[in-house]
Amino acid sequence: MTFQSEFSYETRPVRVVFRPGAAVTATPGEAAHLGLRRLLVVCGSRGEAVARAVADALGDACAGVHAEARMHVPVEDADRAVAVVRAAGADGCVTVGGGSAIGLGKAIALRTGLPLIAVPSTYSGSEMTPVWGLTEHGTKRTGRDPVVQPRSVVYDPRLTLSLPVPLTVTSGVNALAHAVEALYAPDTSPLVSVMAEEGVRAMAEALPRLAADPKDLDARSRALYAAWLCGTCLGSTTMGLHHKVCHVLGGTFGLPHAETHTVVLPYVLAHNAPAAPHALAVLRRALGTDDPPRALWELAGRLGAPRSLAGLGLAEGDVTAAADRVAGEPYANPRPVTADEARAVLRAAYEGGPPEPAGDIPLQQIQRGHGLADRK
Ligand code: NAD
Repeated sequence: MTFQSEFSYETRPVRVVFRPGAAVTATPGEAAHLGLRRLLVVCGSRGEAVARAVADALGDACAGVHAEARMHVPVEDADRAVAVVRAAGADGCVTVGGGSAIGLGKAIALRTGLPLIAVPSTYSGSEMTPVWGLTEHGTKRTGRDPVVQPRSVVYDPRLTLSLPVPLTVTSGVNALAHAVEALYAPDTSPLVSVMAEEGVRAMAEALPRLAADPKDLDARSRALYAAWLCGTCLGSTTMGLHHKVCHVLGGTFGLPHAETHTVVLPYVLAHNAPAAPHALAVLRRALGTDDPPRALWELAGRLGAPRSLAGLGLAEGDVTAAADRVAGEPYANPRPVTADEARAVLRAAYEGGPPEPAGDIPLQQIQRGHGLADRK
């Protein structure tokens, strides 16, 4: 494999604390370290019990618990949360939960500039990114702003013990998708490559152990460690076709986030593989296979995860509409995607059969694929 001798890499100031029990034992210290005295705790309705434990640990530094986070951050939820944070006189927020809770926290930070502490409970990786998302009138907008990047991330593997196996698997594959796309991103770098390889290896090793025994704390720690690495890859690079497809399917067609990532990833990787030899080589090593798209598809099947968009409820007639939307918007990808190719990728994901190994494509086409504008 040739060495990537031209790159840039930006490090953002984020403190990471990782230990079992840290949600309760480390969060108050992180708040003190940041000089915060009145924190609003943000979570979803299902995560309220754990969030209350964090709120209790914060004691007088807790300004309240706002348990209204939902998937894809509807803009009216963001409006309400900003009003709550202002009424509480908070000087920061603690998000307790997965990407939805972190997403609502980021929406607050975007509007108010208040600092965030994230206590993640899934493997989505949002805590390591400056990417925010808001959904309005059926369309999800995303953007990048350093103000939404959590200043402190408290990883507590114990918090993930309650994650049901189906969500464990799909959330884990969501993390894998960040690493996969970071490997062929136009702004990838040797450090991203190292993190992606280690993240993929650790997650692929942890998921079967967790499907067999979801209370295995060692495997939970390994999966959360992988999520940290994969999330860092996401935060450091520009995502491509896979994230664009999932963004359209989630934001416009209402499909569930992690499950959609799990279904789509093998097909996008099969499409991009001929244009991404370095990524393919890294993934072969990390997954111990000659055929990473097929290995990811088999992993999902073996662990009982959904494998078709039809199974997730996408109407057959929406395949073309989604593909046109994907093809019609610019995004960075190692291989250009025509409307027909987007349709073929989506059609294959809709049906859920084994991904076809793609043939070689001309070098000229590969180079044309990079450098487009969208950052997620
Ligand atoms: P989620 O936060 O929506 O959680 C899914 C479900 O699992 C919820 O019902 C939640 O209550 C429950 N849950 C979460 N943790 C649990 C636990 N430990 N035990 C039991 N139940 C638990 O799911 P997600 O996949 O983490 O996040 C999806 C959202 O995050 C999407 O809106 C997506 O766009 C966003 N996201 C953003 C970024 C970014 O960088 N901005 C990255 C990844 C995902």
